[in-house]
This record gives sequence, structure tokens and C-alpha cells, in this order.
Amino acid sequence: MMKTCITNGKIILLDQVVEKNLIIEDNLITDITENIPEDAKIIDAKGLFVSPGFVDVHTHGRGGSDSMYPTYEDLNQISKTTLESGVTSFLPTTMTMPVEDIYKAVVNIVDSQGKVDGAKIIGTHLEGPFFNSMYKGAQPEECMILPTVENYKALVGEHEKIVKKISLAPELEHTLELLEYLKDKGVSVSLAHTNATYEEAQTAIDAGANSTTHTYNAMTALTHRAPGVVGASMINDSVYAELILDGIHVHFAAAKVLLRAKGKEKLILVTDSMEAAGLEDGTYKLGTQAVFVKDGSARLENGALAGSIASMNNVVRNAYQNLGLEINDAVRLASYNPAQSIYENNIGEIKVGNLADIILFNDNIDIQMKIVEGIVK
Ligand SMILES: [Zn+2]
Repeated sequence: MMKTCITNGKIILLDQVVEKNLIIEDNLITDITENIPEDAKIIDAKGLFVSPGFVDVHTHGRGGSDSMYPTYEDLNQISKTTLESGVTSFLPTTMTMPVEDIYKAVVNIVDSQGKVDGAKIIGTHLEGPFFNSMYKGAQPEECMILPTVENYKALVGEHEKIVKKISLAPELEHTLELLEYLKDKGVSVSLAHTNATYEEAQTAIDAGANSTTHTYNAMTALTHRAPGVVGASMINDSVYAELILDGIHVHFAAAKVLLRAKGKEKLILVTDSMEAAGLEDGTYKLGTQAVFVKDGSARLENGALAGSIASMNNVVRNAYQNLGLEINDAVRLASYNPAQSIYENNIGEIKVGNLADIILFNDNIDIQMKIVEGIVK
């Protein structure tokens, strides 16, 4: 058995920060203690935070690769480059494309799971193709179809177990049949790219939807006589709200409003990053569309935002510095909450018995060390 002791650091627990020693044995966290075991390998975390690794439940790509490019090398590239930003688990996220292309991407995700070198693939997030073209964002409308169970099965084939999250527009015909089918399967259903009224969103939430995707973006807004999907997200305590906190997709004041509505328990930070994340400004691709990356944003030719180039440690820094959160609460939005939203109970929190997915970072949230299931990467 391999035993490691991370000493001298500030350990970020769910509700507080403690200055103790974190003990890892093999792939698990086994103790949080005043003592240093004699037989342990020592990691000196002097001056650093010792944090649960981040969990990104919405990322299309990074480092020049996209989850829709169906090769192991592409998923491995995303895995390795997202780890640099502190992400230890992620859902490679597909986008609205022809059914056979999504199926190929799903098969590649299944085949690559457990084999990548960086952050772990813990499932997939299907973003589309069950969307409303009125709020298409960067999702190509010609590939949008209805959420029948038959169409869903065509997307995933025999690989239903890989699906941890699906984003859909709840006003589409057949949504409730699909929600009934997905019930008790451990899939987070999230409302997105949608023209739904508040009432239509509420009906889907009552039928089991537990999330809203990049909340505020590509959905009906909250107004006083039509509370929209944003209003339904805010008022239902069962619903997790994804937020792209890059300072571009959502104004920080609007982010604070959402935080007040959802509390630190139900807000989720995501990157929604595309292949240009981590690379220089220039012209890239999202599916078949050209994307222009400049000044921190990624846009289609028509100006629509096309995902982000955000990094998880940057959005956590924004939560810490711009939303006025304590460090443990800022981290919670990027670790515990996303894990809980997709029913993953052994990651996202430093707790005895959980998997040892640990990152070390400084006061500026610059990542200094990454540990995935007990192994320093
Ligand atoms: Zn989207």
C-alpha cells in the first residue's frame, strides 16, 4: 500500500478550511489528522490550499481538441489540458450534430474511459440535439430533432450508462416521455437552448429535470409577467444552475442574483469550453462552423457566443474575487455541487473515504499540483 501525507497546507473542506495533514492511501482519502504517519511519503503544501479537484460537467473541448472528434487522442488531449486547470473529472460534452456523428462520439467516449492520462472521464453530457432553433446559440438548427425515446436510443445505442447529463428544450413534443424513460437512470436532465415558458419549465422540473444549462444564456429570461426558464431555475430548490462565470457570458451582478437565488448549494460553475481554450487567439471550429477567438471570447461569424475559452481555475477565481465568496464556497461550486448534480458521491469533496482527487493552488488559484486517485500527475 502506498501512503502519502500532504502537510503544511490549508485543506478546503465543504464548510471550512483546516490546517491539518491529509492522508492518502492508494486511491483514497483515509484521514485528516494532526499527526504525520512515519511510513508516509511527504508532500509539503506550504502556503497552498489543498482542494478537491474540480469537476467540469460541461466542456466541449480544449487544447485544439473537441469531444465530437471521435479519436482517443482528442479525448486524451482534453483530459491532459483540462487537468492543468485543476479539473480531475469531466464530462466530455457533445453538441447538436447529425445523430450518427453524436453516436460515434459517444462510442469514442466509452472506449476512452479509464485510458486517458489526465482528468478522468466520468461519463458524457449530451448537449442537444433536442433543442429549439429560436435559442440555437452556436448549435446548428438543421440537426435539431424531437426528444423521442427512439431518437435518444439512436444517439447512445447500447451505451446508455455513459450518459450522466442531457441538455434539452422542455417545450418540445415528447419531452415528458423521455423524462419518464430517464427517471431513476441517474441522468441529470438540464434545460437549455429553450423557448419554454415558466410553466413549461416547471412541468419538466416536476417530471424530474434537475438542472439548467449555462443559466441565463440561450433561454427565456426572467421578466415580471413571464418568469421564464430563468425564473423556474431560481425558484425551484431542487434545480442546479450551471453558470459560465467568465465575465463574458453573464454580467457579474446577474451572477450574484443567481447566487442569491440558488445559494451556494445549487450553483455550478462550468467552462463550456471549446477547442480554442488554452490556445492563442485565432480562427477555430465548432462542429462545421468557424469560430473567431479574440479578447477572451469565442464567437461565430454572426457574433453569437460559441462556447467559451475559460479555464476552471479562472472561473473559480472569479467566484472568489468577484462574487465575494469564501474560498471553500467558491471551490464547492466547481467540485461538490457539480458532482452531486450528476449523482457522483465519491468525488468533489475532501472527505475520508472519497477518491483522492486533490489539487494544490495558491491564493490566486494558480494550480501547483494535481493528484488523480492518489497519483501525482
Ligand atoms: Zn450551449
